[in-house]
Amino acid sequence: MVDTSRISGLDRISIEHDHIVIGCAVTHTQIVREQSIRRSGTCLVESCGVIGGPQVRNVATLAGNVAHAMPAGDGSIGLLALNGEIEVADAAGCRWMPLQDAFLGPGKSAIDPRRALLTRLRFRPTVAGEASAFTRVMRPQGVALPMISMAARLQVDGDNTITAVRISLGPAGPVPHLARPAMDLLKGRPAVLQEFKKAADAVLASVALRNSKHRATREYREEMIRTQLPMILTRAAERARGSQVVPQGLGL
Ligand SMILES: Cc1cc2nc3c(=O)[nH]c(=O)nc-3n(C[C@H](O)[C@H](O)[C@H](O)COP(=O)(O)OP(=O)(O)OC[C@H]3O[C@@H](n4cnc5c(N)ncnc54)[C@H](O)[C@@H]3O)c2cc1C
Repeated sequence: MVDTSRISGLDRISIEHDHIVIGCAVTHTQIVREQSIRRSGTCLVESCGVIGGPQVRNVATLAGNVAHAMPAGDGSIGLLALNGEIEVADAAGCRWMPLQDAFLGPGKSAIDPRRALLTRLRFRPTVAGEASAFTRVMRPQGVALPMISMAARLQVDGDNTITAVRISLGPAGPVPHLARPAMDLLKGRPAVLQEFKKAADAVLASVALRNSKHRATREYREEMIRTQLPMILTRAAERARGSQVVPQGLGL
C-alpha cells in the first residue's frame, strides 16, 4: 500500500509545457481554490466542488476519483470534457495516456493496482474563445447519488461558430461517457440554443440510460439531459464569448 499524501511534489498544481498538471495527492478542495483552474478548467472546479461534503473534499483526490473508475465519478466527468490525460508510473517508467483509456468498466481501471500508480493528471487550459461548464442533477435530500452529471468544453470563433467541442456525462453506461456523435454534430455549427438542443437529442440517441430506484427513472434522466445539457453548452459558450467566469454549484 502506498500513501501518496506526503510524497514530495505530488501535492502540487503546476503549469508545465502548456498544461495544468495536478499531482495525485492534490485534494478536491485544492482544485476548487486554484485560480488557474477556476478560470481555464472551470468544469473541473465545478465537478470537484460538488463531491461529497467539505470533509470528503479536504482529503479525497481527483486521482482517487479517476482510479476508482466509477461511471458517475464527478471529477472524472469534468476532466474528460477537458480532454485530460493521466500519468501512470510502474516498474517500466512513467507514461501519459488519454483519460478515457483509464476506464474499462464500472469500478474497473486500466491502472493495475498491484503494479502501477497514477502519479499526475493534466489538461490544456482553455484559451481566449474557449471555456467549459459542468452540472450535476441529484435529489436535494436523501440518497446522494447523481441522476446525471454533464460537462462540456467549447471553443467558438469570432462568428460564434463552434470550432471545437467535447461533451462528457455519466452515469450513462459502464464508463464515464464521451458523447462523440453530439460532438461531431456541433463542430462547425453556430453556438446557439437550437443547435445545443439537437446535440442533446444526439446524446440521447447514443446512450442507454437505465431505470434506477435510487437515481431516477430512465424517462426522467432523459428529460434532464434534454433540458440541462443545452444549458451547460449555453453557459460554456457565454463564457467562451468573454462573459465573466464564476464557477457555479459549488458545495458548501
Ligand atoms: C461520503 C462520501 C461522499 C462521496 N461523494 C462523491 C460524489 O459526490 N461524487 C463522486 O464522484 N465521488 C464521491 N465519493 C467517492 C470518493 O470519495 C471520490 O471518488 C474521491 O475522489 C476518491 O478519492 P480518494 O483520494 O479518497 O481515493 P480512495 O477512495 O482512497 O481510492 C479510490 C480507489 O482508487 C485507488 N487510488 C487512489 N489513488 C490512486 C493513485 N494515485 N494511483 C492508483 N490508484 C489510486 C485506490 O487504491 C482505490 O482503489 C464520495 C465518497 C464518500 C465517502
